[in-house]
Amino acid sequence: MRAIRRFTVRPVLPESLAALGELAGNLRWCWHPPTQDVFAAVDPALWESSGRDPVRLLGAVSRARLDALARDEAFLARLEAARADLAAYLGSQRWYQRATASGSLEGPRAVAYFSPEFGITSVLPQYSGGLGILAGDHLKAASDLGVPVVGVGLLYRHGYFTQALSREGWQQETYPVLDPDELPISLLREPSGERALISLAMPDGPELLARIWVASVGRVPLLMLDTDVEGNPEHYVDVTDRLYGGTSEHRLRQELLLGVGGVRALRAFARITGHPAPEVFHTNEGHAGFLGLERIRELTADPAGPGLDFDTALEIGRASTVFTTHTPVPAGIDRFSRTLVEQYFSDAGPTPGVPVERVLALGAEDYPGGDAGVFNMAVMGFRLAQRANGVSLLHGEVSRGMFHGLWPAFDEAEVPIGSITNGVHAPTWVAREILELAAGEGADPDGDDTEAFWAAVDTVPAERMWAVKRQLRERLVHEARRRLVASWEHRGASRAELGWVDSALDPDVLTVGFARRVPSYKRLTLMLRDPARLTRLLLDPDRPVQLVIAGKSHPADDGGKRLIQELVRFADDPAVRHRIVFLPDYDIAMAQPLYPGCDVWLNNPLRPYEACGTSGMKAALNGGLNLSVLDGWWDEWYDGENGWAIPSADGVEDTERRDDLEADALYTLLENEVAPRFYDVDAAGVPTRWVEMLRHTLKSLGPKVLATRMVRDYVRTLYAPAAATSRALGAEESGARELATWKTRVRAAWPGVRVEHVESSGVGDAPEVGAVLSVRAFVALGDLAPDDVTVQLVHGRATGEDELVDTVTVDLAVGETYEGGRHRFDGEVVLDHSGPFGYTARVVPRHPLLASVAELGVVALP
Ligand SMILES: *Cc1c(COP(=O)(O)O)cnc(C)c1O
Repeated sequence: MRAIRRFTVRPVLPESLAALGELAGNLRWCWHPPTQDVFAAVDPALWESSGRDPVRLLGAVSRARLDALARDEAFLARLEAARADLAAYLGSQRWYQRATASGSLEGPRAVAYFSPEFGITSVLPQYSGGLGILAGDHLKAASDLGVPVVGVGLLYRHGYFTQALSREGWQQETYPVLDPDELPISLLREPSGERALISLAMPDGPELLARIWVASVGRVPLLMLDTDVEGNPEHYVDVTDRLYGGTSEHRLRQELLLGVGGVRALRAFARITGHPAPEVFHTNEGHAGFLGLERIRELTADPAGPGLDFDTALEIGRASTVFTTHTPVPAGIDRFSRTLVEQYFSDAGPTPGVPVERVLALGAEDYPGGDAGVFNMAVMGFRLAQRANGVSLLHGEVSRGMFHGLWPAFDEAEVPIGSITNGVHAPTWVAREILELAAGEGADPDGDDTEAFWAAVDTVPAERMWAVKRQLRERLVHEARRRLVASWEHRGASRAELGWVDSALDPDVLTVGFARRVPSYKRLTLMLRDPARLTRLLLDPDRPVQLVIAGKSHPADDGGKRLIQELVRFADDPAVRHRIVFLPDYDIAMAQPLYPGCDVWLNNPLRPYEACGTSGMKAALNGGLNLSVLDGWWDEWYDGENGWAIPSADGVEDTERRDDLEADALYTLLENEVAPRFYDVDAAGVPTRWVEMLRHTLKSLGPKVLATRMVRDYVRTLYAPAAATSRALGAEESGARELATWKTRVRAAWPGVRVEHVESSGVGDAPEVGAVLSVRAFVALGDLAPDDVTVQLVHGRATGEDELVDTVTVDLAVGETYEGGRHRFDGEVVLDHSGPFGYTARVVPRHPLLASVAELGVVALP
């Protein structure tokens, strides 16, 4: 029978247990094991069967058990300790407050962090993969550091899908309904008690309404918009149905809700709770980019706003916006048809008064190779943000190449896209046992000195370390067997056929993990390139290898599903199934025991498509050694001792051949380096050289791969400068108006700017190291004044084609002014390298509020 109506009865806790409700209401429990222990103690069996979900646990625990707990002094004392700990965590001065108080940091009052997905805990399944996990880790680390971030996202009724396998190994998707009443979130309400609503005008129907859920991520509120609201027609209710599904128009509506609606939700939240308005807006990937248009609307067309002109509003928006690009894979970038965007940004759409031609221009691919028919969200992202970054050094470089078309007058190296390498939130991802190893040495896991913490691992005896790794491997083996049984039962096997699962995987065998989404560039099946060779590795009588594999394919990607099937079919073979397993439904709950249980973390993407990758970081923090193509973060931090680099056949055009070469290199490393080292044990059974690598990994990578390091980098290099520029633009917007007018004037006058000629002296015909080159550049500035520009000497190594590389720029000083807007600029440079040297002079715009010389995209060269 189907229910005609459903609702959830909220539990009523005895007064002495009210703190359980408080603890369940703040997601900090999900990275705080002592709080998890308290929930486990409520009812250990129910804690496990509820999927370690405090809200479900409290909803299911019996009245009798609660009454017993209410009289249990020992339990009440633990509960009070956990409550007091949370209160202290929420109220204390943390890194951000200390840095601000000491004067070493002048950061924003609040930062809004927008993302289409947030992966915080498996009980709030609102993520599909790395982007969402990163966003979750960003919020958690911001909370730990006391950075005043507010998250903004959507609440998807089905989240992402749950993966299962058919008998034939084909991916099956189901979309369980998430009941918000059973999630650890609460509805934002007006002081009257009414739910708070925001609305968006739609060009083809009534207004779209959305309610606002708030999740407390430690100190960080996360606002989640949801269109399942009475009054919305069915097709509006479906706007927040699921993550990354549906047509292009569906996706555009989701992104309008996230960007435009997200800003409105922030305003409602600030109005109701008194939370400070954000001074900085950070868009995690292009999906949330429409937030910039809503802010322009607020500043230009909103009757309650200051009524600025578009260009002034654009300057204010840009100064306070940070854009992070996350993928070098063209298919990963959102592009809409121009016509569709035109329709939604007409005056009947959600941002009336913002001229549609200006909107279209912001997302136009108006550069060689661009498509005139599309609207590109990444391109708009760069144009609406004064500061932008990629997510590893290599990805920064690749992004500068990819988006060079937006700044064609500059060399790639000067494209204003920097990089901040991603990090991971240690308290979420590191097994307790590993943290305790270091904490046992007296190191403080919550301290600011993360290096001291990870260095403490050095003093732990090798046998202890190895015993812990074995324990974690064994836990993974048991978890994998449990999942295998469930998966095979779903695939139609009977219990009687599954006796073999009891001996699937072995807690003493070298364990290699591979888990990630399954887009083609990640090459799930590279390991199957030579099945016979892989089989020999798995079945080696002395030095066997076992593989634990997981990953979801996007529901619309049949290619990815075929790869999964190929892998599953290989792993189904009775000859190898005890050494290679595919575990369906990769998610946070699976990932948490997976990383610590692996000895080696494998990653073999097609370089350079992995923007950063974070799973290998999580493995490293758990004493796993990475075996990876030098892509993303591994390209930056592989040091020869902390794992292995799979050589990549960059430049080999034939992808089949490239895969052959790289697979061969992978097998060879496993055969000759990895397995021999793992099985090279001393008399006590400890692989001493392996343990040395493990220590080195923890010590060298530990402090670097942390999300707290990442968030500090964002604060210092992007958020604080963005806040400073915003403040300089002025509360009265006079600075912004001045900057906008100045830009218009400089752009208009630029055709009159020329480097007329350059004279040099001081080095003669045979210059030697140490010689001083004096340069005089004669420039015409037309209608501009010397103050409007910087004249620079750019020097470096000259290649065979006279291209300058490894360049250094030196600002020249005004020497003399002549008639007709002509000036001489002078300076000198000491030749400190031998070899081919070259130089040129150039003129670039100068204004104290520019973040980069390339910002206006104009330059004058001889
Ligand atoms: C860390 C993580 C990812 C991202 O891993 P990548 O290495 O970036 O592919 C995806 N899914 C889950 C569940 C994770 O924990």
